[in-house]
Amino acid sequence: MADERNERTKYNWSYSGDDAHVDRSKYTRGFDPDYMKRAAERAEEQEENGERRRGQTARNRQRQHPSARRARLSAEQEVRTGRRAQIREEETVLERRPSRQTAESAGTRRAESEERTSAKTRRAKSGERTSTRTRRADSGVRNSAGVRRNGTGKRNSARTRRPDQTADFVERQTKTSGRKKSAASRRQLLRRRDTLIGIAAAAAVFLLLLLTNTYTLTITLSGDDPLYLELGDTWQDPGATAVYKGSLLHFGDTEVPVVSEQEINNRACGTYEVTYHAQHKDQEVTATRMVIIPDRTAPVITLDETVNVVRKGDEWKDSFTAIDDQDGDITANVEILGEVNMRRDGKYQLTYRVQDSAGNEAEASRTVIVSSVAINRPETARQGDKNVIYLTFDDGPGMYTERLLEILDNHNVKATFFVTDTNPGSRDLIGEEYRRGHTIGVHTATHNYDIIYENATAFWADLDQEMEVIKEQTGSETPFMRFPGGSSNDRIAMDDELRRELGAGVRSRGLKYFDWTIDSYDSDDEYTSDDVYWAMVDQTSVADPKMVLCHDLKRTTVDAIDNYLTWAIENHYVFLPITEETPVVHHEEL
Ligand code: ZN
Repeated sequence: MADERNERTKYNWSYSGDDAHVDRSKYTRGFDPDYMKRAAERAEEQEENGERRRGQTARNRQRQHPSARRARLSAEQEVRTGRRAQIREEETVLERRPSRQTAESAGTRRAESEERTSAKTRRAKSGERTSTRTRRADSGVRNSAGVRRNGTGKRNSARTRRPDQTADFVERQTKTSGRKKSAASRRQLLRRRDTLIGIAAAAAVFLLLLLTNTYTLTITLSGDDPLYLELGDTWQDPGATAVYKGSLLHFGDTEVPVVSEQEINNRACGTYEVTYHAQHKDQEVTATRMVIIPDRTAPVITLDETVNVVRKGDEWKDSFTAIDDQDGDITANVEILGEVNMRRDGKYQLTYRVQDSAGNEAEASRTVIVSSVAINRPETARQGDKNVIYLTFDDGPGMYTERLLEILDNHNVKATFFVTDTNPGSRDLIGEEYRRGHTIGVHTATHNYDIIYENATAFWADLDQEMEVIKEQTGSETPFMRFPGGSSNDRIAMDDELRRELGAGVRSRGLKYFDWTIDSYDSDDEYTSDDVYWAMVDQTSVADPKMVLCHDLKRTTVDAIDNYLTWAIENHYVFLPITEETPVVHHEEL
């Protein structure tokens, strides 16, 4: 490189030889006193010229250097390309504008057209500038590019071309003019291009959707989950639906049949499962529903009543069961509140509570009587046995009834009460007798012979009145009755018609009447309690069946009864209340 530079320096030197020649001619005219000054100025001038030449040389060098030339061409090409794009964009805008504003006035359109023309002119000028530069660059290709640009810009710019254009250029010019003439069809082409781009974009979006779209099989239960079904109700499956569905596109969506499996027993409480299954293509899906048949029935506690009354000093042995419809025997789960003291006479309250597995609770309670007196064991006897005594109390309830009930409880004796309404204030005791396990029979309301035995109609009217009281107290009518004075009393015995009608009434009403075989004679005011006791004891050993007539309105009977019960129980008699199985005792067959 250093040699090359030296060579150029030499060349420059020889080149500036012309000036030296001119100066030499000046020498021939003689000595010039300002020579030194001029020489200095000339030297300065020469230096300036030298610099200018060097600059030109550098430019020439640059132009001549192929790599630099390529770089410059490419830079220029880029500028042109950018400009072309800008022009196209402006044109597109201008072309679209009128179609968008068809509703606007013609004036506006005219103004716009002018604006468009001036824009085109501007563009043409800029094109011209570019072409000037291009010409300087001395490139045919670049020239033609300039022409094309002028063609797209302004028609007039073609005239700026030199007239000595080549045939090739003319041909291109002709083509360009043709395009210009069909501006409308060109716009149409542009529109078509835009449409094609739009279609291509839509296709690309669709393809993207198609590629990212995934199908999933889903199953949905209809109805509740968990579903509650009442015990015994018919099971009806609300079913399920399965859908094969695309995440983005839905043209392949389809409903898939569902198969269900279940083993529901509507007779047994519990939790069941219903399984739903669906399959489509390579997908499978399963869902389960819980079906709950709730247990709403509480367990039942049954108390063994034979331990309701126990003898003092015996061992306490409770007896009961707890049965649940679902859990079975849950006696072991029963919780007992309260205690029985077998060493002391008294009444002991016991409460039994139990819960089944579903949480349904049951409760029962009883009073256990611990007694030092003889305890009747009715469970050891049957109706009609020879040792069975039927203790009956007429005309109550009254003032001694409550005390009588206590005594009977202490001996665990159930008796029968033929009740009246002679003490309406004591009606509640009828209910109390019933609740303690005694049998209630009807004995008329007034117990007034003059009223009830006047005729059969009067009798039944009176009896019905008492039957209402019984129904009110016990919840139901009784099938048992006793005629005041018995079926053989004088009034009935002396009146055949009355006897027949009463007999017909008893049968038509489905009643059973009971007389007695043992009379305590307590209705006789002259009898003491001791007399009453012995009257009962004496007859009990001989009567059969043993149906004892007493009156709970009599203090003597109530006083005598405790001793009588002790005697009878200790002598292996058993007391039972009247039931449907009790042998009837009739003084007279009506
Ligand atoms: Zn009576």
